Amino acid sequence: MSQSNDMLKQFIPSEFCLRCFGCCRFNQNPSIWAPAGFKLVKDNDGYACEKLDVKNNTCRIYEKRPLDCRLYPFLLVKNDSHLQLGLHKSCCFIEEKQPAPADIQTYAQYLKNRLNTASCISAIRKNPEVSADYQENVELITDLKDVFAKAYLPKLNILTLKDKPRIEGYLLKSKTSLSARHFVDIFIWKDLFQIFWVIIEDELGIFYQDKIGMFMMLPPLGKFKPTVVKKCFEIMNVYNQNSAVSRIENVAQEDIAKYSRLGLSSKLKDIEYLCLRKDLIELAGKGFKSKRSSCNYFVKNYRADFLEYKDSYYRDCLKLYQSWSRQRKGRHQDIIYQQMLEDSFLSFQTALRYYKKLGLSGYVVRLRSPQVVKIAERIKSCTFGYPLNKETFCVLFEICDLNFKGIAQYVFREFCKKLSGYKYINIMGASDLENLKTVKLSYRPKREIGVYNIYQK
Ligand code: SF4
Ligand code: SF4
Repeated sequence: MSQSNDMLKQFIPSEFCLRCFGCCRFNQNPSIWAPAGFKLVKDNDGYACEKLDVKNNTCRIYEKRPLDCRLYPFLLVKNDSHLQLGLHKSCCFIEEKQPAPADIQTYAQYLKNRLNTASCISAIRKNPEVSADYQENVELITDLKDVFAKAYLPKLNILTLKDKPRIEGYLLKSKTSLSARHFVDIFIWKDLFQIFWVIIEDELGIFYQDKIGMFMMLPPLGKFKPTVVKKCFEIMNVYNQNSAVSRIENVAQEDIAKYSRLGLSSKLKDIEYLCLRKDLIELAGKGFKSKRSSCNYFVKNYRADFLEYKDSYYRDCLKLYQSWSRQRKGRHQDIIYQQMLEDSFLSFQTALRYYKKLGLSGYVVRLRSPQVVKIAERIKSCTFGYPLNKETFCVLFEICDLNFKGIAQYVFREFCKKLSGYKYINIMGASDLENLKTVKLSYRPKREIGVYNIYQK
């Protein structure tokens, strides 16, 4: 390692290295200080790299020597999900000449930039053991987050509609009735987050990223593998300044124990409610009295049709959302709820724009003329959802003009009537909002399912 080379500018003058016997020789075999993939041969009391010409103290493959040899006395120090540039203080030049910290920093910056280039990343990818958990007499100089992400982490793919069949293949393996286990609920948030997917050891990971950081929208889907969970957290930690942002959302209660065995903690995110479809159609008994009378009131006082959604209703439905959102905001001052309505508009718009491609089911309530003058304003409610499995259907949106008494109860009942074959309707959670929880509970859910987030301790 004593001459300059065309790949990396050397920190140590070649004349110094040529006179030195500090490199290419090792006390042990194997040794983490030896270049990965090279054999060591007996040399006096220790060992030497097989490529060392001991007589001339030169490397026989100097022009093609591996990256670790080119970097030395700088090292790629890897532990857990960190890659850093270290300096081996035992190098004879460093010990004897004690270079100025500013010179070390300048060179480290140069290396950092060079390591981030395609050729270096490819060299590290081909030989990931070029880094190691070096500790003895090593000074850590700078973090190599970007290099780590590119060289050691799987490449994240941006989610598009074309990925739907592949993603659905994994979603179908999921046994839960959680609302998040459908492509629709992943894709419709694309205007709020950059959405990525990756396959690691045949498990699917879905990642959301915004200006706050990156998190997993779903647990890795497939057979539960601790190595995959670890890798997913590594990915998030690289992208997040604050590792507390890294989390796996929408984990089912029955899977919590698997994560806690890995030393991870869980926190209840929400409770989703599952109602019996039969109850929602019949609205029988005391418990549903007010729902029943609301439906009856609507049917008696308004002449309306319940129609399957089609693309020509798109603009009217968006307008309806906005006026409904204003009405809701007027009634509920909660800032989180108001923000939810704003965010939800973007997802609503995406859901409708890709309605057919996403495989949504939807209906509108359209008043018959001549009750209102303008045709464009006749849609007074719309509702959309998707099947989660053979027995559960999830209602994703229900938007109504609240000036029409009983319309919410009416549209929900009519939608449930159309969903023949499903035993349960998942009406989703209340996101910690009391007013929303009251509404959800008023439909007398038969099952409550906990939704958890998983964090690193
Ligand atoms: S120990 Fe340092 S000075 Fe000696 S040959 Fe290796 S890099 Fe050069
Ligand atoms: S490959 Fe060459 S430079 Fe690297 S340790 Fe072996 S002899 Fe030394």
